[in-house]
Formats: sequence, structure tokens, C-alpha cells
Amino acid sequence: MTAHALSPQAREFIEGDHHLLIGGEWVRGRGADIPIENPASETVLTTIRAASTEQLDHAVAAARAALNGLWGRMNVRDRGLLLNRFSALIERDAGIIAEIMTAELGQTLASSRGVAGSLSPALFRYYAGWTDKITGEAFDPIVGADVQQFMGLTIREPIGVVGAIIPWNASPGMMGLKLAPSLAAGCAVVLKPAELAPLCASYFARLWQEAGGPPGSLNVVHGHGATIGAAMASHDGIDKITFTGSTAVGKAIVVAAAGNLKKVTLELGGKSPFIVFPDVDVEAVARTAASWCFVASGQACIAATRVFVHADIHDRFVEALGNHTRNLIVGDPTEPSTNLGPLVSAAQKQRVAGYIASAKAEGARMVCGDEPVPAVGHYVRPAVFTEVDPAMRIAREEIFGPVMSVIRFDDEQRMLDTVNDTPFGLSGSVWTRDLERALRVARRIDAGQIGVNVHGPMSPQTPFGGNKQSGWGREFARNGLEEFLKIKAITIRIGDRP
Ligand code: NAP
Ligand code: MG
Repeated sequence: MTAHALSPQAREFIEGDHHLLIGGEWVRGRGADIPIENPASETVLTTIRAASTEQLDHAVAAARAALNGLWGRMNVRDRGLLLNRFSALIERDAGIIAEIMTAELGQTLASSRGVAGSLSPALFRYYAGWTDKITGEAFDPIVGADVQQFMGLTIREPIGVVGAIIPWNASPGMMGLKLAPSLAAGCAVVLKPAELAPLCASYFARLWQEAGGPPGSLNVVHGHGATIGAAMASHDGIDKITFTGSTAVGKAIVVAAAGNLKKVTLELGGKSPFIVFPDVDVEAVARTAASWCFVASGQACIAATRVFVHADIHDRFVEALGNHTRNLIVGDPTEPSTNLGPLVSAAQKQRVAGYIASAKAEGARMVCGDEPVPAVGHYVRPAVFTEVDPAMRIAREEIFGPVMSVIRFDDEQRMLDTVNDTPFGLSGSVWTRDLERALRVARRIDAGQIGVNVHGPMSPQTPFGGNKQSGWGREFARNGLEEFLKIKAITIRIGDRP
């Protein structure tokens, strides 16, 4: 995509200043310059300035001051109204946000519109509705001999200052998952977007100001993970880190968080199974498997990267998959006909190429994926491999690119053993018309979210998160809100005083 393909509003925003938002003020970053590339044109869109660690300290202090000030005293109705206004502003500007997202990330405009115009505002509206429904309980504690002497109460309080660290993929959705429940809970937030794609976060900061967010309630700092991200993870002034990204960085955050034992929620990698039994419409399910493996050019944590196909339909399925995938259009993400845009960076493209080479070297059969790609832009053709042994690297590691492993099975139990033989446990789906089988298999997959004849549904009401090394905690739904609340128990003597 070339810069002149952008609307005037999107271009003006991208080429403008991307200051930090600290305590309600726009502050020029004093850290390194970070050029932001358009991965489709390989041109520099703009340059942002990272925060210094001293500026991070200011942001954390501003968040603390907000908790102790206007933001902390705002009543729950007004907090809900604020989040609803913010949601409406995201909806108003969804077209611009989608353009920015496509420009910095390379994801197709159609899918950017889905994230910016639908998922993200829906999350803010959903959590706006929770603000005035955060309640505790009353109970009869048994203290000593007499139950009647005491009364117990629990109250739910905001967990405090939250550090939110997000990856580059689907950042308006990621911000919905981090900011909506934490702000609804009454926390004050310091957000650090990924340096590869920070512009949507910069836009959200502007909208939060427009919505009337009190100073310090949301602070946005730019900067690299190794410096600013790591400083957040170890910061004594931060009470909780909510993180989405790779499993390796998740582990580093847990170690860094030990200093003040801050609470941590992690949404990490996946290697999600897509399990196909013989009683399905083979062609239709093959197309669906492709769409869920190659979503966002495979740069999605829930991507259906391991496709288990029953031996009875395996060859027909693979043929349909190959025919469909070879016809997918890889190119300019702003073209409505494009199915897959570029990967986010040259490094990511190189990483994926390494996996494709390893699959070939390990003896997997490439059904498609060798066709040419545009010369400029970080493009990769969607690749389908069959005869994949579950021990091969492409079947075990998260690739974060458009590479599918098809694994043949005939025995249900052995297939499930293979499905679960992974450090990941994020998502998965089972495809069959036999409801008993669907539920039996769904219960045996060790993952946080299973679809039956649907893959990776993202709804505000549906809890989402990983088992095993795919994460800690849950996002979406009431569960996502609970991650930002702490319970205080109060016991009151109501009978005779001692
Ligand atoms: P990443 O390298 O883990 O980065 C994620 C974020 O963490 C970025 O903002 C990054 O900063 C920051 N970071 C890097 N090192 C850090 C450190 N030592 N301390 C604190 N923060 C640090 O992940 P990515 O490559 O950007 O994104 C792809 C990964 O995210 C994949 O593995 C994918 O599965 C995972 N993901 C998971 C989900 C989910 O919901 N489970 C969703 C989407 C993506 P900079 O990049 O700016 O340096
Ligand atoms: Mg990174």
C-alpha cells in the first residue's frame, strides 16, 4: 500500500506527532526514535519517539495519582458513561482506525474493519455495562462460638495501577481486552503497544482524551519491549501486568514481576487443533480450515495451524484445501479482493521461511505455497503441508505465519493424545454432525476455548485464555473483569462487645 491510498484523516494522523500521554498531557518521548514501516510498501510511515524510563516512572506516578484523585472518586455510573462514549468514538472513527491498522500491520482492510469497527467497540460497550454491577457479598462468619455476633462483607476493589503490554497484531482488539475491563474495574492504566505497530494505540489515546477520560486514568507510553516493557514488568509502582504476546516474553515477565509480586495475566501463544471427522461437507470445511489458519496471514494466536483429518476423507480434504488455497490472493491489503496481506516485518517473513524450509527438510509434503509473491512487501504464500509427523517443528512450534500442518488420523484416542501433546492449550475446534462425538472430543482437548463446527469465536461474553503455556487467567466476559479486581473481606461485630 502506498501512502496516497490513505484517506486524508488517516494520513494526517499517521504523519502527525505521536507523543506520550502522561497524566492527561501530551509529552514528547525522550527515548529512541522508532521508525514505523508499512509492511506492504516497505516505506516508513512515520517515526515515533520512545519514552525514557524516567518518563515511564512519571506515567506510573500519574496513574497512582489518578487512583487517589478524580478517577478513583468517579462514581460508577459516570465511569460506565465514559466507557460508552469511548466505545462510540471508536465506532465513529472505525474507518480511520482500520486504515491505520492496515497501514502499520499489513492486515487486509476488510479484517481491520472487523476488529476496529466491531470487536473493539463491542468490548468497551460490554465492560461499560459491568461498571455498576461490581458487587460483593454479605455472609455470616463463624467466629468463635456465636454466629450471631458477627457479619461478614466482601467488597471488590480495583487492583490498582495496571501495566498493559500488547503485541502488534489486532491492536484495537487487544486494547479492548486490556483497557475495557481494567478501566471498568476502576484501575488506572499504563499502556505500552508493540513498537512494530503502535499507531492505533496512539489514536486510542487521543480518543480517550476526547471522551473525557480523567488525567492519569489511561497513560500511553511508546518504547521497545526490552527497555520500557521490561521496566514495566519489574516496576514497583505497578500492581498488575496484563500481557499478550509470545510465551518466551510471558515467562520473562513472570520472572521480572517477582520483585514486588505483582499480579500477572498472560495471553500467550497457541498451536490450535482443527479436528475434522468424515461426516462433514468436506469442501466447505476445507475452505473454513484455510480461512482460520490463514487469518491475518496466520498472525493470530488462535490460528488453526494443526488440522487433524480423518483418514476416510483425508485425500479429498487435502485436494479441496490445495485447490482453494492456491487461488487465494496475496497482495495489497487495501484491495477488497485480497485474502492475505503481507506479514508484519521482514524478520517475521524470514522466520516463516525458516519453518517452511524445515518442513521440507524433515520430509513433509508441500501441497501448495511455492507460488511467487509480489517483489516489494513482506509477502508469504499460504502453505499447506501433508504427511506431517507430529514431531516435526512445523507441527510443534508457533509459526505466526500462513503455514498449515495436515495430520491424518483414524483412531480418536490416539488423535487426542497427539492433539494434547503440546505445551500450548489456547483454542481448538471439532467438526462433525455427531453431537455426542463433538462433546466427547471437546471435553478431552486441553485448551481454554473449543468450537464445535465453528473456530475461534470472539464474543465479549465468551471467556478466552490459555491452559498450560498458553497463559494465565482469562479475558473477555466477567472473568476478564475479575482479573482487575481484588477482594477485601470485612468482618463486623454486631453483637455484644468484648
Ligand atoms: P512479543 O515479542 O512477546 O511482544 C509482545 C509485547 O511484549 C510487545 O509490546 C513487546 O515489545 C513486549 N516485550 C518484548 N519483550 C519484553 C520484555 N522483556 N518485557 C516486557 N515486554 C516485552 O510478541 P510479538 O512477537 O510481538 O507477538 C506475537 C506473539 O504474540 C505470538 O507468539 C502470539 O501467539 C502471541 N499472541 C497471543 C495472543 C493471545 O491472546 N494468546 C494474541 C496475539 C498474539 P516490542 O515488540 O515493542 O519490543
Ligand atoms: Mg516482538
